[in-house]
Amino acid sequence: MGSLSQEISHISMLSDLISFDTRVAPTVAVWQISNTFKSQPDLPGMLIIDDKQLIGIIPRDKCFEQLGRPYGVELFRNRPVIELYNRLGIQPLVLPYDCRVDEAVQTALTRKHHQLYDPVVMQREDGQYAMIDMHTLLTAQNELLRKSNNVIQKQAEISLSLSTTLHLQEVVRLILQHIAEMVPYDWAVIITEKDGEVDYSLSCGLPAEIDIRQIHAVYKEQSLYAQLFREKRPVLIPEIQASPPLPTSATGTTLSSWLCIPLIHASNTLGILTLARTGSEETIHPEKTGAFRTTNNGKNHSFSQAELDLLMNLQSTFTIAIRNAQLYSQVQESSLKDTLTNINNRRGFFEFAQREIANASSTGQLLCALMIDIDHFKKINDAYGHAVGDQVIRAVARECNKVIRQSDLLGRYGGEEFVILLPSSDLETARRVAERIRSDIEALVIAIDGVYIRVSVSIGLAQQTSVGSPLDDLLNRADQALYAAKYLGRNRVVVWDEALQFHLENDLLQDTKNNLLMNTYHNQSQKRLDSTVLEETIEGWAKALELRDRETEGHGQRVARLTVELAKRLNIPEEERIHIQRGALLHDIGKIAIPDNILFKPGKLTEEEWAIMRKHPFYAYELLAPIAQLRPAIDIPYCHHELWNGSGYPRGLKGEEIPLSARIFTVIDVWDALRSDRCYRPAWETEKIFAYLQDGAGKLFDPRVVQEFFALLKDLDITNGGIGEHPFFYLNRQTTLLRAPWHNR
Ligand code: GH3
Ligand code: MG
Ligand code: MG
Repeated sequence: MGSLSQEISHISMLSDLISFDTRVAPTVAVWQISNTFKSQPDLPGMLIIDDKQLIGIIPRDKCFEQLGRPYGVELFRNRPVIELYNRLGIQPLVLPYDCRVDEAVQTALTRKHHQLYDPVVMQREDGQYAMIDMHTLLTAQNELLRKSNNVIQKQAEISLSLSTTLHLQEVVRLILQHIAEMVPYDWAVIITEKDGEVDYSLSCGLPAEIDIRQIHAVYKEQSLYAQLFREKRPVLIPEIQASPPLPTSATGTTLSSWLCIPLIHASNTLGILTLARTGSEETIHPEKTGAFRTTNNGKNHSFSQAELDLLMNLQSTFTIAIRNAQLYSQVQESSLKDTLTNINNRRGFFEFAQREIANASSTGQLLCALMIDIDHFKKINDAYGHAVGDQVIRAVARECNKVIRQSDLLGRYGGEEFVILLPSSDLETARRVAERIRSDIEALVIAIDGVYIRVSVSIGLAQQTSVGSPLDDLLNRADQALYAAKYLGRNRVVVWDEALQFHLENDLLQDTKNNLLMNTYHNQSQKRLDSTVLEETIEGWAKALELRDRETEGHGQRVARLTVELAKRLNIPEEERIHIQRGALLHDIGKIAIPDNILFKPGKLTEEEWAIMRKHPFYAYELLAPIAQLRPAIDIPYCHHELWNGSGYPRGLKGEEIPLSARIFTVIDVWDALRSDRCYRPAWETEKIFAYLQDGAGKLFDPRVVQEFFALLKDLDITNGGIGEHPFFYLNRQTTLLRAPWHNR
């Protein structure tokens, strides 16, 4: 089975038809003629040639009628043949060999009525004549119609298949596939151009290492480029002999036949389609491209004019599909881009972010997101106008773009808000990126029309809480962190965590905001402290607390040591115990933020005052969380007022939800408080304290911790008397204790 175009090529011209060129000289005997007809039943007639001139014709259907006439044999012998044919009225229709079949049929059938059955003769390329049977001609015409119908059908089929997608790569792939079915090739490439450069290309059958831009560059140096692009005419080289249109170095294969057609849209050349045959029997099939196979079985090595014609017929179908896909991707692209900043708009961001989420969940990664909002942006608009405001937005987008990596995804989330997804950064890296953006923008001077503007941004950072958790959750968290960053004074990076969410949900940030001390700590947030400096700082803070709270001197040190001891007995590893010690020392650090009139109120606290008092664990959290080395020590300051049965604060954690270190500390803190005199009560007897703790085990306290604590005291042999003297506890009973946090609630 030949291809569609090959079949058509065999019948499109007269020279392609079966013809009969049996000829006789005018003097040949009548019996010879009739014998020839008898022996060759397919012969449509005979040409009478005189000195290579066609002078007449004897068609089969008229032969015996004519020969039987009175002239008889002498007809050929004695009379001028021209005269004879004039008399008979036979005027053959002579057509050139390259007359198309449909034109031949048209001419033959529109002859004068009395000539309608006169024979049709083709003058061949070599000047000789051949007779064409009208029957053959009509059959060929019929066949042609059928084939062209097939082409139309094929065209419709191709259009339909191309209309199933608007994705450029898929469209071009389909085109190459359809062509392969009709015009087999060894390799093919479609190149589209933009401003004279390769805009898009797809090849099939070419070795993967071939650079299409190089092919394009070679084309551009040749005159055929002008023919294709300017004159919009196809180029066909059926057999390449000496100089191939592309050197082997450009394609990796030697060419034997080659054709190239322009892809024309609205009288512009959008690109070119090149097909090549290499002439080798072992065709390099395009499995390499993974696309599809061409069906070049028993192919001709030369591309034919008919194949070119077929492709030219289909080129507009191809071009329209390519153009539509291009337009679609342009529209797609523009609908995803922000026109002011030329970064992704919100829609674009979400579109790409969803893919990142899917990728990350398949690789088990946790994504980080940043929410960035320009600080006090309204003021810039108010002071300089919206147009300048827009320039500032642009400048900020540019800065963000400079800091992030190729794989990060930046989008304009809203007016002067940006979002960045960091697919390949852990939380610490993301924090550095955020900090870099913040500091770069802080340092940036934006010059607009002679005005110099400086801005800052607040940034919220969050990490996915679990692999594949929804994008919305992640962005919400980053947004919460951003909100906190604004409240904490702007121009800062805040990392989301659960406590932060709790603060927000309980409307606690406002207090934090108003607390100058907190802000001071936040401003030095994230700085790493030298370890001796850290220890000194902790000690200093603990001292300051004792002084402020007028707490028993040494209370912090004492409970800290006992807590560590008990932690050891409860098998808490050594490396964690240093954090427990620090946490215990700083357990009441949050009280720094409690106003004096509440902290030192001699009488009972009102409900409102209690509400404020109970916030001190939050404040402790706010203070310690930003200092990386104190982060692990946060459990005791944050959770030492939680109770086993859930009745504690700030979060009302229950049972083992409460960090073990905090459960330990609570018992010890209570023990230590009850052993001390208070202005409103004397110190309790040891027995009474034991009974109280025993009673509270499983209600207020972790029962295992209480039991272990008793065991510890027993081992230390300090259960009865002598407590004050024990090296573990230096108790200064003279110190006035106004109030410990635990009691009179
Ligand atoms: P804050 O520090 O709390 O973020 O203060 P802010 O003034 O930046 O407050 P907010 O983020 O709520 O205000 C954003 C303002 O940005 C509101 C709006 O007038 C302005 N804005 C939003 N989109 C555009 C824009 O495309 N161009 C300009 N020039 N201004 C915009
Ligand atoms: Mg805003
Ligand atoms: Mg803002």
